Amino acid sequence: MIKLNRTPCPAYLSDDKVRQLTEEFINTGNSVWNKDEIKGALLKLSNYKCAYCEAKVQIEDSYMEVEHFHPKSRYKLEVVFWDNLLPSCKKCNGNKGNHDTGKEPIINPCKDDPKEHLCVEAARLYPKSNSDMGRLTIDVLNLNDKERLIDSRFDLCNTVKETLECLYHGAIDSKARNEIKGLLSACSANTAFSAITSNALHNDPYYSYIKQKFKDKNLWNEELEDLDINTKKIALDSR
Ligand SMILES: [Zn+2]
Repeated sequence: MIKLNRTPCPAYLSDDKVRQLTEEFINTGNSVWNKDEIKGALLKLSNYKCAYCEAKVQIEDSYMEVEHFHPKSRYKLEVVFWDNLLPSCKKCNGNKGNHDTGKEPIINPCKDDPKEHLCVEAARLYPKSNSDMGRLTIDVLNLNDKERLIDSRFDLCNTVKETLECLYHGAIDSKARNEIKGLLSACSANTAFSAITSNALHNDPYYSYIKQKFKDKNLWNEELEDLDINTKKIALDSR
């Protein structure tokens, strides 16, 4: 999970529209949130990923769902309240169910920085400094689901390590610079499981060695520096 910035409310959700849809929901129980205008805006907010587990989702994908941070069953007036909506995969949305986030808060990636509550070891998430919110978030969303999440995260981290090992043993030249650029891009906020892959990158001793070598040869440019800063910002700390 990474920190997301809440984008401005889409024009579709005007005050009148929100009132009309909320009323419709209260009276009929219809899925009034299930609109392409809402889904599209939510996916842009999260780089086309589930806001919780960071799996990739697409608008045309039945896997993508509009998640109500405060559950719509308990907080009916927030059913299309922009600040209450998050893009989610079917699994996270289903796992969260009717969990009452008003009474027992979990991490809201648009409000809380997951880095303050979660850390990582061997592709598994752990609560940080005994963060109750971190612990509850992992449990409620089942963020250590082995088949669906840990195995995928582990494979990606392994690829990061393999690439670093090749770069460590290879020549430091412009071809290698393209490779390190590709690696940093593969750990950026728009890729799946970036909080964990960027942790694998930034905590690998080979990475700091390689970075210094590029700097010594004046091959470390602004683009790489930006990618370095941005991936470090989202990287969870090691346990
Ligand atoms: Zn998810």
